[in-house]
Amino acid sequence: MEIKFSCTNCGKQLEADDFGAGLTIPCPKCGHSLTIPAPPAATEVSETTQSSAELKVGQQINSQDRFHISLDNKIKGPLTLHELAALYHDGAFQSDTVFSKNNSEHWYPISKIIPMLK
Ligand SMILES: [Zn+2]
Repeated sequence: MEIKFSCTNCGKQLEADDFGAGLTIPCPKCGHSLTIPAPPAATEVSETTQSSAELKVGQQINSQDRFHISLDNKIKGPLTLHELAALYHDGAFQSDTVFSKNNSEHWYPISKIIPMLK
């Protein structure tokens, strides 16, 4: 399920996966630090829904994709999957980092693609 929110500084519309709730990301447009809001309390995401969403993100990744990740509230990238894997192996980021793919405004938790970095 997606959380839609907007930058409190420039008003840019953003989306994040609910895994990212509570994380701080820089606005892709103005760089303002934003905390991803919690999703509406009434919606419960089932295990099944989560794992199929995970699968979907994994299946959509290919070697042409370029990634941006949020590190220390700054956006780093574009990175290839290979560069991302190298950073991961260097311990540059943790599983609670968020990433976006191909300049999308949608941020996912990096834990979704960590299995692909190993
Ligand atoms: Zn902004």
